[in-house]
Amino acid sequence: MDSGMIGKIQKAKQYAQEPHRLQFEKFEVAFEGNHNNYMVTYDHGTWHCGCDFFLTRGVCSHTMALERILGVMLPQSSAREAA
Ligand SMILES: [Zn+2]
Repeated sequence: MDSGMIGKIQKAKQYAQEPHRLQFEKFEVAFEGNHNNYMVTYDHGTWHCGCDFFLTRGVCSHTMALERILGVMLPQSSAREAA
């Protein structure tokens, strides 16, 4: 392996330890719940989930779980459940 690639792999390992460098802007996730599967989307701070609870409350266990999983990789304004 050439030294250029070795350097990139070292840098990748370092970056992987520093998730605060990443900010998700949009994504779509297939979420396997206990009873059903749901499609959860995130677009510049706006969540959407296909479950019934989300329809009435605008937040649900699926979106809150993703907030916890992604933590610092979500823009701060949407980290309602960060604590
Ligand atoms: Zn949901």
